[in-house]
Amino acid sequence: MDAVDKRRALAEIARAISVCNDCDLARGRTRAVPGEGNPDAQIVFIGEGPGFYEDQQGRPFVGASGKFLDELLRSIGLDRKTVFIGNVVKCRPPNNRDPQPDEIAACAKHLESQLAAITPKVVVTLGRHSMQRYFPGESISRVHGQPRRKGDVIVVPMYHPAAALHQGSLRTTIEADFRRLPEFLERALGGGLDAAAERVPAHLRTAAATAPAASQPTASAAPATQAESEPQQMRLL
Ligand code: URA
Repeated sequence: MDAVDKRRALAEIARAISVCNDCDLARGRTRAVPGEGNPDAQIVFIGEGPGFYEDQQGRPFVGASGKFLDELLRSIGLDRKTVFIGNVVKCRPPNNRDPQPDEIAACAKHLESQLAAITPKVVVTLGRHSMQRYFPGESISRVHGQPRRKGDVIVVPMYHPAAALHQGSLRTTIEADFRRLPEFLERALGGGLDAAAERVPAHLRTAAATAPAASQPTASAAPATQAESEPQQMRLL
């Protein structure tokens, strides 16, 4: 699929999500939150589920943890239009409780369709519930920041940004885990580090990138779930 087809596929999935009634979370939602970003992203971030502000706006990670996620992305020279950001459940659990296993199972088809359309090289799970999708039974404190190949993708489990907001000592841990993402992407691209480095923009070649994403050349697809009038997105590679 090229970027245009991917964008079309994601828009179709977003439509299906917006009318989905396959679990009880649908009844409490103001808006479903399908996810957003670059349909052709090389990195996908998977959070847990929408909170209050996400439910109001229909967009992922727009509250306090979203601001921190934006900061973490900026620390490696990316922004949310470069990557794709989604969740394991697309509707807000009441009072921000954890998503239940039956709700995660009912919603899994949407995430699977999104990942099948985007075909990212790297998936970053944010928090326990999205980690469980790839590493059932694992403990986040044991595996965070450690990339593992799962089929065609490298999966990197990380703490949820909200955890860092509630527990200051985790902040430096998440920041350090993020700094290694460009390296994992290079590895995921294969062909040896030299070949990969040629295809990776300069700001992604070092862990402590400082170049703002906005200064990178723009290209290709617009967000699947945002207005067509949104600025054109950057591709990661
Ligand atoms: N936390 C999540 O896991 N996802 C969101 O979209 C917002 C907060």
